Amino acid sequence: MSSKDWIEKDYYAVLGVEKSASSDEIKKSYRKLARESHPDHNPGDPKAEERFKTVSEAYAVLGDEKKRREYDEMRSLFGSGAFRRSARGGGQPGGMPFDVSDLFGGGATGGADTRFGGGGFTDLFSSIFSGGAGAGGPARPRGPARGRDVETEVALDFDDAVRGVTLPLSLRAPGVCDTCHGNGAKPGTQPVACPVCHGAGVTTRNQGSFSFSEPCRNCQGVGTVVEEKCPECHGTGGVTKTRTLNVRFPAGVADGQRIRLAGRGEPGERGGPAGDLFVQVKVRPDELFGRSGDDLTLTVPITFPEAVLGTDLRVPTLDGTVTLRVPPGTPSGRVLRARGKGVVRKDGRAGDLLVTLDVVVPAKLSDEARAALESFADQTPPAAREHLDARVRRFS
Ligand SMILES: [Zn+2]
Ligand SMILES: [Zn+2]
Repeated sequence: MSSKDWIEKDYYAVLGVEKSASSDEIKKSYRKLARESHPDHNPGDPKAEERFKTVSEAYAVLGDEKKRREYDEMRSLFGSGAFRRSARGGGQPGGMPFDVSDLFGGGATGGADTRFGGGGFTDLFSSIFSGGAGAGGPARPRGPARGRDVETEVALDFDDAVRGVTLPLSLRAPGVCDTCHGNGAKPGTQPVACPVCHGAGVTTRNQGSFSFSEPCRNCQGVGTVVEEKCPECHGTGGVTKTRTLNVRFPAGVADGQRIRLAGRGEPGERGGPAGDLFVQVKVRPDELFGRSGDDLTLTVPITFPEAVLGTDLRVPTLDGTVTLRVPPGTPSGRVLRARGKGVVRKDGRAGDLLVTLDVVVPAKLSDEARAALESFADQTPPAAREHLDARVRRFS
């Protein structure tokens, strides 16, 4: 029955006023308490901070006439008789400390929380019941709910991945409706207490010595119903929102890499920490260059005479050209290295441009070239194949 401990939260006691206090008295008391416990006056004192939150939460309800009425109504329903006793006797040994923030998920900041400030009572009830605070529900985990992680995919051009780039990312995710601040009611109207459960969100049935509670069917356990629906969200209180984030991709980001942006996921509920944003990177291939870690790769065709006689090659880099010396007698497949012409990291470390030489065999020759090649062949000693020939002879 620990789920019923919210009934014990007495905002009047928090603000140190009588239940019959006028709105002026409430305001006065709140201001005094808020001043005393304000974090600015109590730097580094978590107790004062907690107290400040608690006071703010209480005033967020009692300072609003409409909410105060609904709160009174709720407490008059639950705050007397067996319900209250069972709440007390049920499951909270050692007394119940005042912790209104419990009710709001622990992290709400009173007036600063626009969802609560503008949200009316739906927030209060939904936070109570959605977290399993209804009779028989699972225990609500401590602390405010963290926002969900968001996963998205981005395709980068090859050059951008090598050099690094900042790109705007549009993310669509559910969020609180700005028009009704999440309570689902048409602006100018408020959700009203559910006529079936009288705002409790649960209905209770007695059978012999047992009593059963179940979420109210009329209001789906929320405790309030919306008479005129918000035109923006059609009464759901939630809308799909598009957010745009500028995301910096560091130089050298690789295809398939997953970048985590802490705290850039969905916002947490009622002041809870935001989730993370994970960006899966795809790098579009380049028509010339490849990547191997921080090295860029490039294949350069050369002729047989160039390989034999040597040459100077002018090859492109990502942002210019570089001249490479091919020494005489270079075999096909040799890799030449242009230092520092690869990915340049932020800290100055740089990869290289690796140039693979590919000796091209011509498919066609002019008569002159053929004659010259035949003459070359006459002057050329046979290839060193003796070690293979020995094996070949065994089978002949
Ligand atoms: Zn109901
Ligand atoms: Zn709305």
